[in-house]
Amino acid sequence: MKTETTSGNRGLLQAEGLIFETGHATGTGVDLPEPKGGADELGGLGRKAALDLPGLSEPETMRHYVRLSQKNYAIDLGLFPLGSCTMKHNPRLNERVARFEGFAELHPLQPLSTTQGAMEVMDQLAHWLCTMTGMPAVALSPKAGAHGEMCGMLAIKAALAARGEGETRKRVLVPTSAHGTNPATAHEAGFIVDEIPARDDGRVHLDDVKVKLGPDVAAIMITNPNTCGLFEREVKAIADAIHEAGAYFYCDGANYNAIVGRVRPGDLGVDAMHINLHKTFSTPHGGGGPGAGPTVLSAALAPFVPVPHIIKRDKGYSLREHTEGTQAFGRMCAFHGQMGMFTRALTYMLSHGSDGLRQVAEDAVLNANYMLTRLKPHYNAPFGNGPCMHEALLDHTRTKEQGIETKDFAKALLDEGYHPFTTYFPLVVDGAMLIEPTETEPKRELDRFCDVMIALSKRAAAGDKDFFKNAPVLAPTRRLDETRAARSPKLRWKRGDNSAAIAAE
Ligand SMILES: *Cc1c(COP(=O)(O)O)cnc(C)c1O
Repeated sequence: MKTETTSGNRGLLQAEGLIFETGHATGTGVDLPEPKGGADELGGLGRKAALDLPGLSEPETMRHYVRLSQKNYAIDLGLFPLGSCTMKHNPRLNERVARFEGFAELHPLQPLSTTQGAMEVMDQLAHWLCTMTGMPAVALSPKAGAHGEMCGMLAIKAALAARGEGETRKRVLVPTSAHGTNPATAHEAGFIVDEIPARDDGRVHLDDVKVKLGPDVAAIMITNPNTCGLFEREVKAIADAIHEAGAYFYCDGANYNAIVGRVRPGDLGVDAMHINLHKTFSTPHGGGGPGAGPTVLSAALAPFVPVPHIIKRDKGYSLREHTEGTQAFGRMCAFHGQMGMFTRALTYMLSHGSDGLRQVAEDAVLNANYMLTRLKPHYNAPFGNGPCMHEALLDHTRTKEQGIETKDFAKALLDEGYHPFTTYFPLVVDGAMLIEPTETEPKRELDRFCDVMIALSKRAAAGDKDFFKNAPVLAPTRRLDETRAARSPKLRWKRGDNSAAIAAE
């Protein structure tokens, strides 16, 4: 950390090292009695040397975490325009309900007679997810979008095996613009990934899909609206062609926020789609909480939905935990999934109602188009000749020649107090800047951000390269060696080694 102060602090922001650097093995914040007995019950395998844990008093511990928390950028602090991530406000009502004792204090192994309310929440959430998407079944248990992708692809695998085509249908078609998790999931699930090339208009074309179809194709994975922020116009025709060829349609539903309440993916011919509750349904994510990726399934895949199954009978709810006697492909995780996210998501749905959810999509799209319209005169917008869905996509074409790239704009935004947009994704656009304002930003915030972006574009156009290459100057750390951080992360701290932070450039 490079600061000119003696203390290392900047203004009222306190510098903070690793807890291992500040703590001491001899200190502690608690006062526990010496354990009685002392007989060696570990068969001589007990630790001999001191554990060397960082001991801190209670006030020191508080300060450590509060100082770290002040280095966090959060949706509660400002605009978080990270494209594809739907960083929207998490309503406090959700938090209130999730903290109700009857939900928050439950243990997954409690007797079912004491968890009927929680199961009703899960059942209702499942009902509304199915209703909104127009799909007959849902697996609630996946714990993230990528986990939901895995759930969908395993359901497809099970369905193919049940048809006797498990060994022959191995190819999964994935557009080049796909999120990295799509090909990764297909590969992990044992399929072979076959890329569908990108077209100039940023969309997948029926013709490009048709030439790839054959008796060895298991599925296609399409994101809609896609990662360029565009609606896939030929999606229904593509779904029909896929089905005709005996394959399944996996839809990456991470961008569901743009169409929730407006489009039922089931009507588009989708066979499986994960829904990121932490994106569309406003449960916290990105360091703020665990995700949840419930996966809706079509009639063709519904029999294979993983356990646990919630079963509703006259006398109450019960859970089917085992696959015997069913076609369920297995289970995705221990217990039932992220209960806290279920409560939050259902609260969000019920408090918005169907009209409110529809407006979520409409306002998300409106906000993105407002930004695209304001920024288009100043940045290259690769697909900007028409409206976008929930994301405005720009790139660095206009300033790349002068050596000012997407990364430099992102670093300059840090000095302006903004978390950058998504950079260099989707890969089909060179130097992509993917901006997703979401519906929860007021016009004032959109304008402030656009003003900053426009000022930066002018500075770049004027050739002020030094300004960009030096940025950020006001952030706690300057430019990090990102390649080194990714390739050789320092995962272990040793006493005496106080350079654990990756050296600033
Ligand atoms: C966020 C996202 C995912 C993965 O979701 P996680 O919850 O992060 O696992 C997949 N696809 C797209 C397009 C996404 O934006």
